[in-house]
Amino acid sequence: MRIAVIGGGVSGITFAINRKRNHPEDEIFVFEHSDKILKKVLATGNGKCNIANTGEIDKVYNSSIALEILNKYDYNYQNRFLDSLNIKTKLVGDLSYPISESAVTVRNAYLKEVERLGIKVVTDTTITDYQHRDNVYIIKVDKEYLVDRIVFAIGGKSSPKLGSDGSLFPLLKKHGYQVKEFNPALCPIYTKEKTKILDGTRVKAKATLVCEDKILFEESGEVLFKEHGLSGIVIFNLSRIIAQNTSRKYVILLDLLPDVDIEELYKFSKKHDKETLLNSYLHPNIAKYLSDRSDYVNSIKMLEFKFDKLYGFENSQISVGGILLNEVNNDLMSKKEKGIYFAGEMLDVDAPCGGYNLMWAIGSALYISDKLK
Ligand SMILES: Cc1cc2nc3c(=O)[nH]c(=O)nc-3n(C[C@H](O)[C@H](O)[C@H](O)COP(=O)(O)OP(=O)(O)OC[C@H]3O[C@@H](n4cnc5c(N)ncnc54)[C@H](O)[C@@H]3O)c2cc1C
Repeated sequence: MRIAVIGGGVSGITFAINRKRNHPEDEIFVFEHSDKILKKVLATGNGKCNIANTGEIDKVYNSSIALEILNKYDYNYQNRFLDSLNIKTKLVGDLSYPISESAVTVRNAYLKEVERLGIKVVTDTTITDYQHRDNVYIIKVDKEYLVDRIVFAIGGKSSPKLGSDGSLFPLLKKHGYQVKEFNPALCPIYTKEKTKILDGTRVKAKATLVCEDKILFEESGEVLFKEHGLSGIVIFNLSRIIAQNTSRKYVILLDLLPDVDIEELYKFSKKHDKETLLNSYLHPNIAKYLSDRSDYVNSIKMLEFKFDKLYGFENSQISVGGILLNEVNNDLMSKKEKGIYFAGEMLDVDAPCGGYNLMWAIGSALYISDKLK
C-alpha cells in the first residue's frame, strides 16, 4: 500500500513509524510544508517534553472517542512504544518526561527511526488539492503522487511558526468537512484590570472561573501575572474552558492564600493595620496592588479579574476546535471519503496541560496505524 501522511508532527511521524514497522511492504511518504519535521516537539514542556500522564483520563478529554481510544492506547502502551524508540522516560508525579529531560532526545530518537525504516520525507511542500480517481488518491504538490490512503495530521492553529498554521483547513472544508472554529487555548489571558505593577509576580493561588454566577472551573497552582493579564498553568487550563466560547462574560477569582482561612485574616486585621497585614501575608508587589483597597481581606481571598480576551495562537500551546468527530468513523476514517484518516490535534479533541495532548497525538496515530486497511 502507498500511504501519504500530510504533516510531519508527532502524530504524523508516530503513524509513519508504527505503520512501517508493522507493514514493511507499505511505502510511506510524509509531506511536511515547513523545512523540518517534528519542530514543535522541541518547544514542548519548556524544552523538556512532558510526553504523557499516568493519571486518570476519564474527565480530561472533551471527546468520548478520544477517551475510548486512549483507554486502550494508554500510558503503558504508549510508554512501550517510546521505549521501542529508546526513549526512556521518568515520572515527576503523574507527569512523564524523557529521562534526559530534553525534548531533543525525543526528536532525535524519532528521526533516527524514520531514517532506519526508509520513510520518505518531503519537506517544504504545499498540497494544493487531492482527488479520488480509479481507486487511488492523487495528491497534488509540485508533482502528482498516487497513493491508496491519506492520513492528515496537520495539527491545529497554535504556534504557527512551528508549522501548524491551519493552511490546509480551507481545502478540507472544500472537500465538505465541517470544522469547528479554532480558538487558542492553554494560553495567557488579557484582563480588563491593569496588572502592570504585578508583571512577573508568581503566586500559588486557587483560581475559580465564573460565568453568569456559575462556577465553570476551579484549580489550584501557580499563577503568573503579566503586564496585561494572567498566565501560569492554572490560567492555561482555565483558558481552555473560555476557548469554547470567548464571547461570554467571564470572571476569574483568585484566592491568593488558599491555605489561610479568612477568619485568621480578620483576626489579624483587628490587631494590625492594613499595611502590616498585606506585607505579612503577601508578595510585596501584590501588597502594593491591594494597598488602595478598603476591602483588602476579601480581595486576598477573592481577587477579581474580568476576562478581556485570550492571547493569540502564537502564544498558545493548543487550539480548541478542528474537524468535527461526527465526520469520522470509530477508526478515525472519514465518513465522506474512504481511505482518508485524521490524527492528532487537527481533530476536535483537546485536553489540559500535563502531557495529555501529546498522548492524544501519539495514541490516535498508533490507533490509526493499527486500524488502517
Ligand atoms: C510551546 C508548546 C508547548 C507544549 N507542551 C506540551 C507538553 O509538554 N505536553 C503535551 O502533551 N503537549 C504539549 N503541547 C501541545 C502538543 O505539542 C501538541 O498537542 C502536539 O504537538 C500535536 O501534535 P500533532 O502532530 O497533532 O500536530 P503538530 O505537532 O502541530 O504537527 C503538525 C505538523 O503538520 C504540519 N503541517 C501543517 N499544515 C500543513 C500543510 N498544509 N501541509 C503539510 N504539513 C503541514 C506542521 O508543520 C507540523 O509539522 C505544547 C505545544 C506548544 C506549542
